[in-house]
Amino acid sequence: KKSVAYLMPFLEAEKRLTGGAKSAGKIVMATVKGDVHDIGKNIVGVVLGCNNYEVLDLGVMVPCEKILKTARDAGADMIGLSGLITPSLDEMVHVAREMEREGFKIPLLIGGATTSRAHTAVKIAPAYGQPVVHVLDASRAVGVVGRLASAELRPAFTEENRHDQEKLREIHRKPKTQKLLTLEEARRRRPRIDWARYTPPRPSFTGIQVVSPVPLEEIAPYIDWTPFFHVWELRGIYPRIFEQPEVGAKARELFADAEKLLNHIVSKRLLEARAIMGFFPAASVGDDIEIYADESRTTVRTTFYTLRQQIEKPAGEPNLALADFIAPCDSGQMDYLGAFAVTAGINIESLVGKFEKEHDDYNAIMVKALADRLAEALAELTHKRARDAWGYGCQEKLTSGDLIHERYRGIRPAPGYPALPDHTEKRTLFDLLGVEQNTGIQLTENFAMYPAASVSGLYFSHPEARYFAVGKIERDQVHDYQRRKGTGIAAIERWLAPHLNYDAAR
Ligand code: SAH
Repeated sequence: KKSVAYLMPFLEAEKRLTGGAKSAGKIVMATVKGDVHDIGKNIVGVVLGCNNYEVLDLGVMVPCEKILKTARDAGADMIGLSGLITPSLDEMVHVAREMEREGFKIPLLIGGATTSRAHTAVKIAPAYGQPVVHVLDASRAVGVVGRLASAELRPAFTEENRHDQEKLREIHRKPKTQKLLTLEEARRRRPRIDWARYTPPRPSFTGIQVVSPVPLEEIAPYIDWTPFFHVWELRGIYPRIFEQPEVGAKARELFADAEKLLNHIVSKRLLEARAIMGFFPAASVGDDIEIYADESRTTVRTTFYTLRQQIEKPAGEPNLALADFIAPCDSGQMDYLGAFAVTAGINIESLVGKFEKEHDDYNAIMVKALADRLAEALAELTHKRARDAWGYGCQEKLTSGDLIHERYRGIRPAPGYPALPDHTEKRTLFDLLGVEQNTGIQLTENFAMYPAASVSGLYFSHPEARYFAVGKIERDQVHDYQRRKGTGIAAIERWLAPHLNYDAAR
């Protein structure tokens, strides 16, 4: 990009002399409304730009109307949508419907972490009469876009795509073989924790504790570098990745660039990191976790609602819900739930903007990738402090590798992740800690955290607490859940759409 910016005046001059070459096509790209993640989209944008496509990147949290208006006004050849969190899947269906309604004739590209070939075929493609193509990762973008832009290659490619999607829909239409347990039965098979012979640890404080700002040099040693390479589509485990024949050299080069920029950010304090954590008297009541106003445990301050696995498991294996790891209210035990939110993305806009102004897209993306790493590292560091506050952390002797593999007591499940798939629980978590006021992290209408380099979750201290996937749930649990939570069934089914074992429309 930098080189192209330098060459531009010369290219323009030559164009005037020769009549000039046109761009290979115009592509409008956006991260959909309610979503803030754009590293993948930005990499795709750079790759397409380098291949002579004109990319109109609208950024993040872009409403449908703006995407379509830009595409219409610019006479775009394609639209590319990106998203990371599950609610974005619905928003993409909405954009496809609107394109159909407004009579668009251009292809629609779908990408981002939670998107899939199956979802694109079953949910998005039927909403729009033109080609809708799932792009697995940035390295595929040029191939897909090239075929769609070529009058010669396009018919065969779209036919193949249509055929593939028809097959996927066919598979999807077949009745599901997965037979789930009733919620009642799943509850009978919950884990049996012997609460009578267990004393929950008591944290050194209750209520919230804000640590802002957290010095970046304290956070950096906690970085887990492996996911950093995945961002750049280099597959491998740090540090072994440096010795891998195909990617080793590139990985070393990338890592050197990352360290250089990280040192610059840390020494000049170009990003600000903030953390908040809290501990609250809590008890489980069925599959709910009640949080009490104080130690008298008489007033319920708020409630977290958890979902239970309904899959039939091998004999002796329990059906889990996160509430199982908190002492039941009738156990006579005084248990606590912890919660946290951290960010390393304060001031990131100006830093990214500076690189973008210099046409340095590489470092603009690098900043975001590093901020994400710092946020995850800060989550690790804050979790360490939480275990210390709980007492049992003080005896730990863990290496940084042990920390990365989370070889310690307790877990920090994050809303939107498999054990706690309902993103809307983030609202409860944010209100409980006062996250917005205390850290500046905001929630979008679809419960993505902004800045994107943010992490939040709950702390469980029980030694048996572990991560799991709730998996698919049945109608009985959705109905039970909405009664407990007091929200409408339609809303619950929309937020949990990817987790339903039935077709909510039927
Ligand atoms: N070291 C990694 C940490 C992130 S992934 C990094 O730097 O990227 C691990 C985190 O994801 C966990 O700490 C937890 O917050 C979340 N997580 C993983 N599996 C989960 C599950 N099944 N349910 C809920 N949260 C989960």
